[in-house]
This record gives sequence, structure tokens and C-alpha cells, in this order.
Amino acid sequence: MESIINNNIEIINNRIEHICQKAGISREDIILIGVTKTRNPDEINEAIRGGIGNIGENKVQEILDKYDKVLPVKWHMIGHLQTNKVKYIIDKVDMIHSVDSIKLVQEIDRRAKQHNLKMNVLIQVNVAEEESKFGIKTEDLASFLMQVEKYDNIIIKGLMTVAPYVENPEDVRIFFHRMKQIFDTYKSSPLKNIDMKFLSMGMTNDFEVAIEEGANMIRIGTAIFGSRNYI
Ligand SMILES: *Cc1c(COP(=O)(O)O)cnc(C)c1O
Repeated sequence: MESIINNNIEIINNRIEHICQKAGISREDIILIGVTKTRNPDEINEAIRGGIGNIGENKVQEILDKYDKVLPVKWHMIGHLQTNKVKYIIDKVDMIHSVDSIKLVQEIDRRAKQHNLKMNVLIQVNVAEEESKFGIKTEDLASFLMQVEKYDNIIIKGLMTVAPYVENPEDVRIFFHRMKQIFDTYKSSPLKNIDMKFLSMGMTNDFEVAIEEGANMIRIGTAIFGSRNYI
């Protein structure tokens, strides 16, 4: 019997395929990250067996609790990361999406060096300038990127944003559009350690609009696993 999670993955894949066709984008260019926060290892493994190859968590503790119980998969840290917790995940995650301060860059670089690895990071941008959201302001991005140049053990792979929650995803199209413009500005940056490839934006409620505006990494939780009891 087809499970709910597998069925949801099929539906999501169809929706991604459909929007890609409509927008003239190749499906292979879009990376789907299954957001597994609050989900147990059994549920996560079911998703992995169903074809999810990338998972996203927003808390260090949840990564540590589940890491050994989950099938081989690429882990993405998508939530706010405190500097003092970098050491716990530096050798576990493939990418950190939520880099928003030089202090954090410094610590990721230091820990990566200790493990003899280069960490892929995305810079989180607070494009809608919401008080409640993490991320650096658009106007501060240029100087931020220049400062990052000297850290050899991180590679800036792109940008990430969390759009404001709205009923109608059309209301956040403008923010996705702005992110793509910023992304394109730095795509051909000659700065060292910058290799802009990924634009991580779009969640259950707004991923189709995000893809239309140029996202190539989308982070989907609810549409795969059902609604969460807590966040
Ligand atoms: C929870 C979360 C998501 C996924 O949200 P859904 O609406 O459940 O798809 C994506 N990105 C971040 C940063 C999250 O914390």
C-alpha cells in the first residue's frame, strides 16, 4: 500500500515538474529539501526511501538526536545557528543555509579547518526586512561578502531567505524577485570563496512562486510530512 508520505512526495514532484514546465526550467535544476523538523527517524527514512536525498533541520539538537538513526542523506542546517553549537554539526551537515553574521562565519571556518573540510554555506538575507527574522539586510550584503573573502574553509554557495508568511503567495513574489536580482549580481563575483550556485527560497505555501522567480533549492516540510503540532 502506498504510504501518505510517499504519496505526498509524488504530488510535490508533480507540482515541481508542472511549474518547471510552465516556467521553462529544467526539473533537474531544482533541489528539493525535505524539511524534517519535529519528524521522527521512521518518518524521515520513509521519505528517504521515497526519493528524498536532501533533508533540512532547523535545530542542532534535532540533528544530533536523529543523525545515527537516519539513512545516508545530505543534511542541511536551515535554522538560526548559534556560534557555540557549530562544533556539534560541522562534520554532519552538507550545507548551512542560515549564515547571518561574521562571528558565525569565523566559527564555521575555524571548526571546518579543524576537521580539514570546507563548509558550504548560504547567506541568509532578510529581504523583507522583518524585525522578527534573522538574516542580513540587503544593503549590508556587499560589505559582508567582502569580509568573508578571507575565510578559506568556507565556500559561499549562494543565498537563502524565508519570505513572510502570507495567505496568498503572490504577495511575496516581489521578495523572491528581489532575491534573484541580488543573487544574479553576485553570481559572477570575482571574490574568493564565492561560488554562487544556489538560491534557497520557497516553502510549502510559496514554492511555486519561488521557482518561477528563480529559486533552485526549495525547502518543503508540511506538504511532505503533514502539518506539525509545534514548530
Ligand atoms: C520549517 C521550515 C521550512 C518548511 O516549512 P513548510 O511550510 O512546512 O514547508 C522551510 N524553511 C525553514 C527555514 C523552516 O524553518
